[in-house]
Amino acid sequence: MAITLGIIGGGQLGMMLTEAAKTMPQHISNVIVLDPTKNCPASKVGAKQIVANLKDEDAIIELSKRTSILTYEIELGDSQILKEIEKNTNVNPSPETLRIIQDKFIQKKFLRDNDLPVADFISIESFIDLKTKITEFGYPSFLKVRRDAYDGRGNYKIKQEDDLQRSYNQFKGKQVMLEKFVDFKMEVSVIAARNTKGSIMTYPLVENIHEENILEMTIAPARVSKQIVNKAKEIAEKTMEVLRGAGVFGIEMFVTKDDTILINEIAPRVHNSGHHTLQSTKTSQFEQHLRAILGLELGETKLLRHTVMCNILGPKNFQGKYHAIEFENTKGVYLKMYQKDEASPQRKLGHFNVVDVDDTKDIKSLIEKALKFKNLIKFKHV
Ligand code: ATP
Ligand code: MG
Repeated sequence: MAITLGIIGGGQLGMMLTEAAKTMPQHISNVIVLDPTKNCPASKVGAKQIVANLKDEDAIIELSKRTSILTYEIELGDSQILKEIEKNTNVNPSPETLRIIQDKFIQKKFLRDNDLPVADFISIESFIDLKTKITEFGYPSFLKVRRDAYDGRGNYKIKQEDDLQRSYNQFKGKQVMLEKFVDFKMEVSVIAARNTKGSIMTYPLVENIHEENILEMTIAPARVSKQIVNKAKEIAEKTMEVLRGAGVFGIEMFVTKDDTILINEIAPRVHNSGHHTLQSTKTSQFEQHLRAILGLELGETKLLRHTVMCNILGPKNFQGKYHAIEFENTKGVYLKMYQKDEASPQRKLGHFNVVDVDDTKDIKSLIEKALKFKNLIKFKHV
């Protein structure tokens, strides 16, 4: 019998999950999302919406009562409430895993305790503590807020002693940790899935290029050696084995100059660096997440065509409603806008995939084509 699915968060990830759900009517008849923004992206593609704060206990309980499987597209949810709900409703990935991942310090400690590779890190309890501990790590180092960070907004790169006070003040009142700077040559990620029956599948390793801490481009596959590909897969699979719960996870990693792989962080959800799978693999990461939490057999993850994904962010000097962004119909270029009513600087508003339809495997040309399209995007006020 088809079930009603609940999603905490109805942004673009919730939207693409809803679209995937619509292709599986035999398994999912309805989607309800909880999101504070009226007419959130998911609601525009057919999800019903409860308009409430993501941490609103009553709203989460209401959502759980109306749905038989609950999942989330954002890691801000209250894992304690979800643990309570779990007694009556299926919640995946498991609230315990969410609790571990939500706090970067607990997450890194968990990974290290399970012999997974991470950069050195240490908790910081006071300014004096920071001053003492940074002598151990040296400059530069990263001061990071432990919870509720995204798009690098909770990170401060401490370059010299002069920055110490400023970095500490920036996150006053929040729990922080210090992390060693990783002089990486590339950022990569693995999208991995485990279904409720325990089988695990990983997508091919991709390369991520960030600009000002926000993902700008994903290149599938990553331009690295076979050894790195295998090592990253091994690390991703081991990570999946130690984390509880079903679903798709995004595992962000660094490749250092001496070819060591370190895990940067894990997202217990579908991930921006997996958007290429909408066109490049048989099963998109969104369908895969649903298959995982429904306990269905996981779909194929093989990369069928090289693909470059570009994010479309709100321009720096633009705020408010905007004319629809459209591309001329071009072979191998797939635009996906998230139907957000208003743009604001650096807000994720859409993405597009450039697919190697002729199977040339020429990544350089794909990147050039992607940049050409990126330059065509112009935001105009309505
Ligand atoms: P997001 O929402 O983009 O995943 P976030 O706010 O959780 O980001 P992180 O993933 O910790 O932040 O860091 C954002 C980016 O900052 C990383 O992708 C990487 O480019 C850089 N970065 C983070 N930690 C380190 C480190 N220890 N050494 C070098 N660069 C780092
Ligand atoms: Mg990150």
